[in-house]
Amino acid sequence: MSTAVSSPPVIGVLALQGDVREHVAALRAAGAEARPVRRPEELAEVDGLVIPGGESTTMAKLAARFGMLEPLRAAVRGGLPAYGSCAGMIMLADSVLDAPADQETIGGLDVTVRRNAFGRQVDSFESAVRLVGVPGPPVHAVFIRAPWVEEVGPGVEVLGRVEGGPADGKIVAVRQGRLVATSFHPELTGDPRVHALFVELVREAMADGARDHARGGGAGAGVGDEGGQP
Ligand code: GLN
Repeated sequence: MSTAVSSPPVIGVLALQGDVREHVAALRAAGAEARPVRRPEELAEVDGLVIPGGESTTMAKLAARFGMLEPLRAAVRGGLPAYGSCAGMIMLADSVLDAPADQETIGGLDVTVRRNAFGRQVDSFESAVRLVGVPGPPVHAVFIRAPWVEEVGPGVEVLGRVEGGPADGKIVAVRQGRLVATSFHPELTGDPRVHALFVELVREAMADGARDHARGGGAGAGVGDEGGQP
């Protein structure tokens, strides 16, 4: 973890498979220091993690083969902020439909997603999606053999839905605590707003961590500081 709260957050992009470079560029545009993450030691050094689009079955197999699945699960369980787009959304989901029976995920997000949900007719399509927490005009959402969210648990906030067309109302963006997921690929459009939302979430998590550390009697906390909390 980087220690200075004011320095840019260090955000990793899981680089086993998928569109890693595009996420690195989008994170940099949103003010983060971005780097690929392939190994547990690299995972241990980041303040947040993006799980890119790609192919979730392949990504899950590679994660298992490279000894990353358990470290990823532990990191997410331990509160590491994570953002998954498309295949990354599937990787963060607790439950997946239309997947091979043995498909593993990192989990953490209390949702059920359906893979390739939009069907063959609309393998790929683009649509304007209004997102909670993203100011300004709707996001131009690019869907490529995308999942949608079929069910959300009680702690999950729906950030966006498809509007109009055959998939009208389908949930395509969610947040639960420090986990965010979108069915679509904001890294492909040159609009940094979704990544900026995640960078902000990572900054907040770092500030919380620093506060908890200080409260726990770390170097900065002295006797008499108790009453001074904001
Ligand atoms: N269909 C892919 C999967 O199941 C996701 C596609 C994508 O990430 N663009 O993993």
